[in-house]
Amino acid sequence: MIKVTRFAPSPTGTLHIGGVRTALFNFVYSKQQKGKFLIRIEDTDAERSTREFEENILKGLADMGIVPDETPVRQSERSDLYQNAIGQIMDSGQAYYCDCSKERLDEMRSKQQASGLKPQYDGKCRNLNLDKSEKSVLRLKTPQTGELIFHDLVRGEVIFQNSELDDLILVRSDGSPTYHFCNVIDDHDQGVTNVIRGEDHLSNTPRQIHIQQALKLPSLEYAHLPMVLGQDKKRLSKRNAVTSLQDYFDQGYLQSSMINMLARLGWSKGDKEIFYIDDLISDFRIQEVQKAGAIFDPAKLDWINNNHIAALSFAEFKSQLLPFLNSQNIDLDSKENGDEILQAMRTSKPTLAGIAEDLRPYFFDVDGYDEKAEKKFLVGSEKALEFIQRKLNGLETWDEPSIDSALADTQAALDLPTPKLNQPIRIAMTGSTQSPSLGLTLSLFGKEESNARIQNALDHLKASSS
Ligand code: GLU
Repeated sequence: MIKVTRFAPSPTGTLHIGGVRTALFNFVYSKQQKGKFLIRIEDTDAERSTREFEENILKGLADMGIVPDETPVRQSERSDLYQNAIGQIMDSGQAYYCDCSKERLDEMRSKQQASGLKPQYDGKCRNLNLDKSEKSVLRLKTPQTGELIFHDLVRGEVIFQNSELDDLILVRSDGSPTYHFCNVIDDHDQGVTNVIRGEDHLSNTPRQIHIQQALKLPSLEYAHLPMVLGQDKKRLSKRNAVTSLQDYFDQGYLQSSMINMLARLGWSKGDKEIFYIDDLISDFRIQEVQKAGAIFDPAKLDWINNNHIAALSFAEFKSQLLPFLNSQNIDLDSKENGDEILQAMRTSKPTLAGIAEDLRPYFFDVDGYDEKAEKKFLVGSEKALEFIQRKLNGLETWDEPSIDSALADTQAALDLPTPKLNQPIRIAMTGSTQSPSLGLTLSLFGKEESNARIQNALDHLKASSS
């Protein structure tokens, strides 16, 4: 039988990291099984669901390459299906109308809580055979004894006591079906075979299986994924992490890096850290997903992104970087050796936004020196700067080896430790102490520009000391 998975987001917020991880695992599993991956928009909560959130979710998934095999469906457009199913569950004798008032239910719950019991419906209307009325809800006759056991591909055998589950509501008094009911009907109607979702849904599963059983629907395979946690080991939220996928793209984390990082949230393969989507499709094993919460580590994502950026072809790197250069107003063509500069700075920062920012000094004049760096290295470096300026001006060939030997000669002549010579030059060239190797940096700027920037630093030192 062909395996069918689905991602079923409720469009009540933007696409977040935990959701993308669930979607990715569903996608990868279906591809690996040569099955089908579907998306279902669970928008029955009309007050909180919006089309904007739906669009954000679908666009985010598409940006990740997580594309469904069929057009997504919306629960809000499937009420005929649910109405039909309500008729079927009535006919099965496994559901009943309940007209308990809110006041009665509130009082019942408070009494249960006061005596230390779990609040749940006491089944008052279960055997009353009530007719449907304006204020009645439809409830499932959940078995009152015994156990519900299911096999979870991640967690193994999961057991729930039926006595812990009350007669859940299937249809509200206004006639609208509830989340659990729609979820079960849809999974069946769409031919879903595998439900892969967050562990927060684990306690919903026995309830949904009871609905399936009442309707004599075939059972499904389940896999409940561990929660994604922040560095503080609490559930990932805006409070402990950047959770919106778009925010990561805006920083210049590559799509492939996000896939790599998300795949590692709850799954691993030996020591292997770098994965692309095709590796996942061949290597991923749902049974190997861990049970314990998976911690999202931003430093690890940086490391992964650095690796993915380094592995891009130069042409691909350039095209991915272009929008970030544009937002820094950097015109690559304004420099003859623009490509060389880009290549040299390719791993300067873990994100494309960071790299583009670091490229600014190569395309614009230095508009100020980093305050700390100035105090620590620039102040008092006049002699070193003048010396190297003369040396560099005297070079006949302007390339990395000649510059490196001019630097070495200067260091020896002035008897300076490396940072005392190199850092002031770096600051003069870029405004900060960050740059690739100094010989390379100077070679990229050219002789004239290097000379001018060292002169500017000298002028600045003179002006600030007078
Ligand atoms: N709509 C549910 C949610 O967004 C998912 C339900 C499911 O995967 O079964 O959490």
